[in-house]
Amino acid sequence: MKTLIFNACIVNEGRKFNGYVVIDDEFIHEVGEGMPSVVAEDTTKIDAEGALLLPGVIDTHVHFREPGLTHKASIATESAAAVAGGVTSFLDMPNTAPAATTVEVVDLKKSIAAETSLANYGFFIGATNSNIDQLLAADYTSIPGVKLFMGSSTGNMLVDRREALDRLFSEFKGVIAVHAEDEATIAENREKIINQYGEDAPVAMHSQFRSREACMRSSQLAVEIARKYDSRLHILHISTADELSMLASGPLEGKRITAETCPHYLIFTAEDLNAERGYLRKCNPAIKEASDRKALAEALASDLIDVVATDHAPHLFADKQGSLFKAASGMPGVKFSLPLMLDMTLQSGALTVEQVVEKMAHNPAQLYGIDHRGFIRSGYYADLVLVAQTESKKITDADVNSHVGSADAQQLASPCDWTPYSGLHLSHRVLTTFVNGRVAFDGQYVIPANRNARALQFNAK
Ligand SMILES: [Zn+2]
Repeated sequence: MKTLIFNACIVNEGRKFNGYVVIDDEFIHEVGEGMPSVVAEDTTKIDAEGALLLPGVIDTHVHFREPGLTHKASIATESAAAVAGGVTSFLDMPNTAPAATTVEVVDLKKSIAAETSLANYGFFIGATNSNIDQLLAADYTSIPGVKLFMGSSTGNMLVDRREALDRLFSEFKGVIAVHAEDEATIAENREKIINQYGEDAPVAMHSQFRSREACMRSSQLAVEIARKYDSRLHILHISTADELSMLASGPLEGKRITAETCPHYLIFTAEDLNAERGYLRKCNPAIKEASDRKALAEALASDLIDVVATDHAPHLFADKQGSLFKAASGMPGVKFSLPLMLDMTLQSGALTVEQVVEKMAHNPAQLYGIDHRGFIRSGYYADLVLVAQTESKKITDADVNSHVGSADAQQLASPCDWTPYSGLHLSHRVLTTFVNGRVAFDGQYVIPANRNARALQFNAK
């Protein structure tokens, strides 16, 4: 069974052209300009009417909360939001319950995803002070890499022993994805804030609590050790202009140190935590100043930063309430990340659509060696998204679960029914999302009956 998508504005590998894609079963059979010379008789034809046709987004940083935290979210609910946002593959972080610090828990997460995920999936294994042997023995054709919480205590995953870091960085050949915030600096800040404001300090002080110095110190240490051993370091969610000085510009290929940022660091500033519902924008690392936001956008355009991922971290609305030390950190992102980033291309002198595709599909695939995905190429999996530029429309909390349609799909509604982007306007809308050649989202509803997601395969390092 073949599908022809024609009259599309294809954006792929730095090019933008009017053309077509032929999908054969789960793969891209053909891609070209204009129309194909021959169209097989039983082909389903989709007129894209000039809409953008992009490789599906690969979100390399999500927290889908399963197992153990399913009161907040699950792989089913968040992968539904993902495909509704044009995200066709995700890499999930290990801070679940139990934490994915063993191959057994990674395999458990994979088995849950095999039953329920609407998008293709991969699961990081988390480093601890004591599991380096297990990490080194794991099979990295089915695991994207090691997640290292360097000086940020999440469960038992704070790796703060120098000998454990040295061993990991010197012996592990794959990608070490690092959350870099210095715990000692954060503890000092906490004490200062409590002395001055008490236990109920306002949430708007978050960027003084989890400060730029905390980011800088931890990133510097990670870079120092990575340079010493020539390790493959990927610094997650860069939030400060200061850290950019440690990065090199240019194409991903050949880089030993790469970096990610997230839409919320490109959209909000610390001021936005002072606004109405500001607590919803509390996340770690903290959102910093307007000057940081500007520098991060420029760093994306100049290729100092390689990847945009969401750090999608859903919480119940009730868990987000309260003061600085009470409100939960983290916010959801997968539903709106692609439209938000495409909207940024409408601002003068900002990113191009080609660059958005590079940071959200090509580079994620290349960085983790994801097999046959991330590009619109003949022989690659047909993970595709059609997106239209539309009239500007205000985002509301109701949009978060608006893709949950039929009665039997109610289990796809996320318990996290709010968005930090509520009130902003969007001028891009996802029309159709294909996962392995099948329509996972039709512009209105996610289609669970078409579920066709796979475990991602990673090329050997
Ligand atoms: Zn995260």
